[in-house]
Amino acid sequence: MKVMGVVQIRHHFLLMLLSAVGRSQVNPEVCRYPLGMSGGQILDEDITASSQWSESTAPRFGRLDFDHGDGDGAWCPDVAAAADGRRQYLQVDLRSLHFLTLVGTQGRHADGMGNEFAQRYRIHYSRDDAHWVGWRDRKGQPVIEGNRNPYEAVLKDLEPPIIARYVRFMPVTDHSMIVCMRVELYGCQWLDGLMGYSAPEGHQMIYRGLDVFLNDSVYDGVAADRPTKGLGLLTDGAWGLDDFLHSPIYGVWPGYDYVGWTNRSFPRGYVEIVFDFDHVRTFTSMKVHCSNMFSRGVRLFRQASCFFRSEAEWEGDPVVFLPPADRVSQGARFVTVPLGERTASSIRCRLHFGDLWMLISEVAFQSGSAVYNTSLRGHPTNALPGEDPTHKVDDSNTRILIGCLVAIIAILSAIIVIILWKQVWQKLLEKASRRMLDDELTARLAVQTQAFSFLRSSSSSTTSTSSSSSSSEVEEGQGGGGDSGGSSTYERIFPLSADYQEPSRLIRKLPEFAQSADDLVASSRLLLQPAGGPDGGPHYAEADIISLLDGPPGASSLAAGPPAVKEFPRDRLSFREKLGEGQFGEVHLCEAEGMQDFLDEDASEGRSHGGGWSHGGGPLLVAVKTLREDANKNARNDFLKEIRILSRLRDPNIVRLLAVCVDSDPLCMITEYMENGDLNQYLHTLQLGQGPSRGAEGQGEPLGSVVSYAQLMSMVLQVAAGMRYLSSLNFVHRDLATRNCLVGASCTIKIADFGMSRNLYRGDYYRIQGRAVLPIRWMAWESILLGKFTAASDVWAFGVTLWEVLTLCQQQPYGALTDEQVIENTGEFFRDQGKQVYLPKPASCPDDVYTDLMLRCWRRNANQRPGFQEIHRHLLDNAA
Ligand code: ADP
Repeated sequence: MKVMGVVQIRHHFLLMLLSAVGRSQVNPEVCRYPLGMSGGQILDEDITASSQWSESTAPRFGRLDFDHGDGDGAWCPDVAAAADGRRQYLQVDLRSLHFLTLVGTQGRHADGMGNEFAQRYRIHYSRDDAHWVGWRDRKGQPVIEGNRNPYEAVLKDLEPPIIARYVRFMPVTDHSMIVCMRVELYGCQWLDGLMGYSAPEGHQMIYRGLDVFLNDSVYDGVAADRPTKGLGLLTDGAWGLDDFLHSPIYGVWPGYDYVGWTNRSFPRGYVEIVFDFDHVRTFTSMKVHCSNMFSRGVRLFRQASCFFRSEAEWEGDPVVFLPPADRVSQGARFVTVPLGERTASSIRCRLHFGDLWMLISEVAFQSGSAVYNTSLRGHPTNALPGEDPTHKVDDSNTRILIGCLVAIIAILSAIIVIILWKQVWQKLLEKASRRMLDDELTARLAVQTQAFSFLRSSSSSTTSTSSSSSSSEVEEGQGGGGDSGGSSTYERIFPLSADYQEPSRLIRKLPEFAQSADDLVASSRLLLQPAGGPDGGPHYAEADIISLLDGPPGASSLAAGPPAVKEFPRDRLSFREKLGEGQFGEVHLCEAEGMQDFLDEDASEGRSHGGGWSHGGGPLLVAVKTLREDANKNARNDFLKEIRILSRLRDPNIVRLLAVCVDSDPLCMITEYMENGDLNQYLHTLQLGQGPSRGAEGQGEPLGSVVSYAQLMSMVLQVAAGMRYLSSLNFVHRDLATRNCLVGASCTIKIADFGMSRNLYRGDYYRIQGRAVLPIRWMAWESILLGKFTAASDVWAFGVTLWEVLTLCQQQPYGALTDEQVIENTGEFFRDQGKQVYLPKPASCPDDVYTDLMLRCWRRNANQRPGFQEIHRHLLDNAA
C-alpha cells in the first residue's frame, strides 16, 4: 500500500472523528478537510495553470492521488516557459474564501512511467484575484520542501494558515529539470467573510530589558503608510498565552502572538481598526482575544465603539460596549462585544486603552448563521469559568479525540511496518530471481565441463592462472590503469539508480520522446515479436537486446535454440601477451588451438573483415578477457551480461565473440583479436598527412604514422556502419567513443566494450555522487539530465567520436571545461538560449562535415538528429 493511501485513510478517519466530536469550527487543528482536488469537488474548470507541457499533463491532472484517466498522471508546466524565467504555477479556484491549514503535493508517478516531482515549491494566494500574496512561514521562509519521489504524498502544515479563494502552487526549479505536481488543499470554508482589516502598526515593548515585538508579523496586506486589506495574526487561529512573553509556537520571539499598542502614541486614547467583509452581513457579535496582564501594564480594552457601513457612508450611531474591568485574573480571554444585529460590509471599531498597553491576538465575527469562528485553541487559559463560553473545553470530547488519535497512530504504525516488511520481501525476491537468471545463463553457456587450466607461456613455460597468479598479474599490469591495478573493487560504471537502469521508465517524459519511443517500440515489435504479447513500455536499455531477441520476458527461447556461443576448453588456450586491462580484469592475447571447429559457418565472414583471428589452418590468435577471481556479484553479472549481448551480435563492425569459458571460474570471453588495439590509442600515435581531401584514395592502412583525412573518414564510416547495425536492433550502446572501438588489420574498426567502461580512461567518466560514473563528455543532454539513452543519444556520442577521430584524439572533448562546467553546459543545451558551447570544428574537418553532420548530431531535439542509417549513407556518399 502506498503512503498516500495511508494519508487518505487518515483524513477519512479524521473526518469521521470530527463529525462525531461536533460542530465544524475554524480551528487550525481540526479544520483540515481535503477540499476536493482528489475527491473531485473542485471542478476541472477551476484548476488552471500558467502553462502546460502537453494536453496530457494539463492542470486538471494535477489532483493528488489521481493517477488514472486519459492524462499522463500529473500537471507539468512547459519547461521552455519555465526556462524563460517565468514562474510556473498550478492555480486552484476554491470559489469562496477558505481557511487553509495544510497542503499536500505529489509528483507524477503514472504507474512507474513518471519520475517528475517538485522538490521545493512556493505558494501564492489571493482573496480577490487582484491582490496576490506570496506565502511565508512564521519565520519568513517562502519555500516549502516538497516531494522526494514521484509517488508519495507529502503534507505540509501552513503556519500561518491562509485565508484565500485562489491558491497557486509554484514549483521552484533550476529550470534544468522537469517537474510535475499533483496537489490537494486542506481546510474549511471561511464563514467570517472577513476580507481584510487595517490597524495601526504594532509597537515594540521593552520589558525588563527584553524586546517584545508586538507587530503583526504575518499580515498579508499592502503596507503603505498604514496597512490595509490584509489578514494576519488577528485571524490566524492561534491565540496568545496568558503570559504574552511566551508563545505556543516554537522558536518565535517574545510577544509573537499579540498585536499591541501603547497609549502614549494615541492621544485620543483609542486604537481604531477597520474590518472589511465580502458582502453586507448582519452582525451578532465580535470576539476579541485580549491579554490582561495588568502587572505589566497590559489590560483589556476599557470600551469598544463600533461604527458600521453598508454603503458609501459610515453610519453615525456606533454600538458602544464596556466590558467589566477585571482586577483579579491576569488570564488572557475572549471578550464578546455584542453588535446588535447591525448590517454592514465594513465595521470600524475603536478600542479604548484600559492601561498603558493593549494587546490583542485574535478577532472573530459572528454574522447571520456564520457563527463558527469561536474555535478552541488547545492551550490552557486562566479565564474565569463562565466568562466566555467559547473558552470551555469539552473534556469528554477531548478524551474521545485523544483516544482516537492514539488508535490512528497505532493503525498507521502497523501499516508502516507492513509496508516496510513488503519492501524487504520484494528486494529479497528480486535478488533471488536475478541469481536464478545468472545461473540459468551460466548453465546454458556451459556446453562442456572442463577443469580450468589456462595455459600461459610468458616464459615459454606453461603456468596455470589460478586465482592467486591472476591477481599478481594485475599488479604488474600496464600503465595508465592508475589505482585500478590490483584492486579487487569493481565499479559499475553506469548509473545505479532505477531510472538509469531502466530508462524506459523515463521515456515518456517529453512528448518528443514519447513519439519516438512509440515508433521504436512499434518497429521492435514488427521485427521481433510478431505474435507475442508486447510487455508494455518502450525499451532502450542495453539489456533489452536480450528481451528483443529472446522474445517477451518469461519466454525461455534461449533454452529452445542452440547456445549463442560455445564453451571453449581452457586447456587449448595458450597465453601470448597481455593486451590491456579493463574493469573486469585483464585482456590477454592467446593462441586458441582448434578454435576453427568451434566457429559456425559464418566464421568465414570474419576472415574477410580484418579481425586478428583470421589466421588460416593453425591455432587462432584471439583476445581473452578474464573476469578477475575476486570480482563481486555485480561485476560477475555485468560480465555475463556483456557475454549475452556480444554473443548475439553479428556484424563486420562489431567485435565478434568467438567462444566462452564459463563453466568454471575465472569466467572468460574469447573475442577476435584486433591487432592495433583501441582506436583512441591508435589515433594518438598518428599524424595527419595531408589537408582535408575527399575520395577513396589513401583508404586502408595509414602509411607509417601518417594518416590521411580520407582514411580517418573511412574509420568513421565503419563506426557508423556498426552503429547502424546496433540501431537496427533497437540496441543502445550508451558508451560510444574512440576508446571503445578496436582497430584490426587494414584499419578495420569494430565497436566493442559493451561492458561500458575502461579503467585506463577513467578520466573520461564523471562520478555523480554516490550514484554512477558517466562519460559526460560524450553524453547527450537528455541522457545526463533525464537519464534517457536512445539511438538519438548514441548519435550524439557518435558526433563526439567523429570529433575525436578528426582531432586524432589529441585532447579530451571540452578539454578546457571542468566536469562541472560540462554539466552546466548540458543545462544550456536544455535551455537552448544560444548559450551552449559546442565542440569546435577540428582543423582537418571541412565546413560541411562540421555543419551537416557533426553539429546535427548535437541538435537539442532528439528527433531532429540524423539516424545512423542516414549518417552512414551520408558518409558513404562523401567517400565515393
Ligand atoms: P573493459 O571493457 O573491461 O574496460 P576492454 O574490453 O576495453 O576492457 O579491454 C581493455 C583493453 O584491452 C583495451 O583498451 C584494448 O587495448 C585491449 N583489448 C580488448 N579487447 C581487445 C581485442 N579484441 N583485441 C585487441 N586488444 C583488445
